[in-house]
Amino acid sequence: MPVKNRFAELLPEITAWRRDFHENPELLFEVHRTAAKVAELLRSFGCDEVVEGIGRTGVVGVINGKTNTSGRVIGLRADMDALPIIEQTGLDYASKTPGKMHACGHDGHTAMLLGAAKYLSETRSFDGKVVLIFQPAEEGGGGGREMVNDGMMDRFGVQEVYGMHNMPGIPVGQFSIRPGAIMAAADQFDIEVTGKGGHAAKPHDCIDTTVVAAHIIVALQTIVSRNVDPMKQIVVSVCTVATDSTAHNVIPQVVKMKGTVRTMDPAVQDQVERRISEIAEGTAMALGAKAVVNYQRGYPVTINSEAHTEHAIKVAQDVSGRVDPNTAPLMGAEDFSYMLNARPGAYIFLGNGDTAMVHHPAYNFDDNAIPFGSSWYVGMAEQRMPLA
Ligand SMILES: [Zn+2]
Ligand SMILES: [Zn+2]
Repeated sequence: MPVKNRFAELLPEITAWRRDFHENPELLFEVHRTAAKVAELLRSFGCDEVVEGIGRTGVVGVINGKTNTSGRVIGLRADMDALPIIEQTGLDYASKTPGKMHACGHDGHTAMLLGAAKYLSETRSFDGKVVLIFQPAEEGGGGGREMVNDGMMDRFGVQEVYGMHNMPGIPVGQFSIRPGAIMAAADQFDIEVTGKGGHAAKPHDCIDTTVVAAHIIVALQTIVSRNVDPMKQIVVSVCTVATDSTAHNVIPQVVKMKGTVRTMDPAVQDQVERRISEIAEGTAMALGAKAVVNYQRGYPVTINSEAHTEHAIKVAQDVSGRVDPNTAPLMGAEDFSYMLNARPGAYIFLGNGDTAMVHHPAYNFDDNAIPFGSSWYVGMAEQRMPLA
């Protein structure tokens, strides 16, 4: 099953959907126009069931195969939301809404899954049921978690689930995947240091919170360099430091810091959470101040099941013959992790060629990737649920 010839015919239509989504980006759960268009198209293809409003603004479509003796149900997922970025592509179909942009290619993901839906509705050459999942709020809102919490997996009987993301720097038509952890868990922390503010010419009468904060920032670097096993992947970054002084000669009373933690392993995640509190509180105490740490867990690690990664590789191999089966994991995080925690499955990257990186104002999804992506979605359904 190479790239489906039908997608050569469908390409102009799928590209037009993609560019329409690109022109009309929406953020987080506010993907009302996008979701309505997705639902309308799914109905026009003759999907057996189309349900809106799952996980607030998610859409689910169901396509029954020619037969259903297998009793199998495969979930295929795309994300629909854009980013708060001012677009700088200069495209004739650039965002019509300043400050919102499809800079992660979710316009392409949604269009490719719609293309697969149109094809699968026409052919139905599989024995079972396909559940098409279009999720809101991948970029920080937890739309995947909302859909899972809304009972989507049980309601539609999803048994295994597959997701795809484009990736700049990988040639168009090439797939990359790995078994096990492929994307990191992303947590965030806030540290508030309280000391004693006062006149900067009388430091001995103060407890200087900026000095305490500086010690904490440096000491936090020892988590990666001295505490965690060097073979584990981890990031600890302090990204914001704010004091309540705006003057050259006032020692601040309070310093607030914000940062992010990326881990690939739940045991390391526990270790880092504990060490951040110990280091911040202990360092502050040693210098006569007080630190309060608030650690919040975000998207979990995205973990590909071994068996389902094999299935994904086989289909990708058939589509283009170009698959890296052991790509390096990324320290970014992915909301699809909630679906993979609910059901086994796999998440694969599809090359977007030599473009700007995702989340960059000059990024654009490459429409030449559409036949590969749509064929992969279709292949997952047809190969996991072959007709007798
Ligand atoms: Zn993104
Ligand atoms: Zn994305």
